[in-house]
Amino acid sequence: MRNTPTILHLDMDAFFAAVEQAAKPSLRGKPVVVGGLGPRGVVSTASYEARVYGVHSAMAMALARRLCPNAAYLTPRFGLYRQVSDTVMALLHELSPLVEPLSLDEAFVDLDAGECGERLRALPESELLAGVRQVAERLRADITAATGLTASVGLASSKLLAKIGSDAAKPDGLVLIEPGTEQDFLGPKTVRTLWGVGPATAEQLRRAGISTVAEVAEAGEAELVRLLGKAHGASLYAMATGQDDRPVVADRDVKSISVEDTFDVDLTDRVRVRAEVGRLADRCAQRLRSAGRSGRTVVLKVRRYDFTTLTRSETLRAPTDDPVVVKETAGRLIEAVDTTGGVRLLGVGVAGLADFTQEDLFAQVHEDARGEAESPDTAPVRSEPGPQPVAHLWRPGQDVTHAEYGPGWVQGSGVGRVTVRFEVPGGEPGRVRTFAVDDPLLAPSEPLPLVPGRPAEPP
Ligand SMILES: [Mg+2]
Repeated sequence: MRNTPTILHLDMDAFFAAVEQAAKPSLRGKPVVVGGLGPRGVVSTASYEARVYGVHSAMAMALARRLCPNAAYLTPRFGLYRQVSDTVMALLHELSPLVEPLSLDEAFVDLDAGECGERLRALPESELLAGVRQVAERLRADITAATGLTASVGLASSKLLAKIGSDAAKPDGLVLIEPGTEQDFLGPKTVRTLWGVGPATAEQLRRAGISTVAEVAEAGEAELVRLLGKAHGASLYAMATGQDDRPVVADRDVKSISVEDTFDVDLTDRVRVRAEVGRLADRCAQRLRSAGRSGRTVVLKVRRYDFTTLTRSETLRAPTDDPVVVKETAGRLIEAVDTTGGVRLLGVGVAGLADFTQEDLFAQVHEDARGEAESPDTAPVRSEPGPQPVAHLWRPGQDVTHAEYGPGWVQGSGVGRVTVRFEVPGGEPGRVRTFAVDDPLLAPSEPLPLVPGRPAEPP
């Protein structure tokens, strides 16, 4: 492990929601929730104002609406998020050739590589920490200037600590963990801070009297292996003692995303097996969405009591990131697997990844259409044939332009009407007007750049 805090973890603050607040002046300082708005939709990102009410990502949208009924509920605009992400990633690449993106808004950067590393190594030792901090503060300022958004940064001697640092820095902050102080920083934190410690493991540790990272370290490797098994116990001990020498790997071209769980006791109950598959499918789809990807092939992995492992897969007609589709497909696959002897491990993955494409836009429209069909007061509109063959399905948050009033966004629609707020990024909160859904002067449009004068699309 290195002895300089030159691994940087960058994480944009409440990214999707922050983009929407920057684009829509009337939403500044207000609760905003971005995600699937259909009946079975899931929250992608909640703004900090919405988090106060307990709304968080991966929560069912229906629950979010109950907790925070006054928030603006918007469908994601992945095209714009990807453009902003490209701008941020380009700034990271100016710092170092070693940039490892984890999702649209999160990446590791190795400041020890490239020109930046040379400049830092040229500094006298007494100025190194200040030098590293300055690089990171300038990066945060550059990101805000280029995107109008804030980012948090963690700096440490390892990936694990850099990531925990950026979490601790949120929002709009910077945490530098000085070499030698890693244990002081980590020790008091809850075991949940460590990767791979979910509620079940945390409960298991709690019963053994272990609730902080320091207590994990004190327990020792042998005790942790006894409690959690060899692989999990050993990796937990390594993390708790700050041992992590994984390098920053540039430009991983990820072809699949998967999640899996090993069970302490073999699962024999078929109902439980199905429920676990459903849960893994949800997690997998969530991870897919946060990476801004979609995929065509759903893969199920099953390791049985006798350690035989099998995989089953199904390829869909179009890429998806829809938790419902991933769940249904994985559910079909598990039905064809004999699990009577017991299951040690289950995994759900999506392969054949693509960036968001036209199909996803259709999928989004379908999801909304489903929602509307179930709501009695938003019956399908346009009964008579008109010049346009298909009525627009106006989605909350969508960009539109009105021939008379100019650019705006859809605030809501129903009962044959669509409400549009006319405002632009960087401007004053705008006025709301309502139109017939088939108003010929109203048309969908492209997102405007968040920072005036900068193109939304990087050159
Ligand atoms: Mg983030």
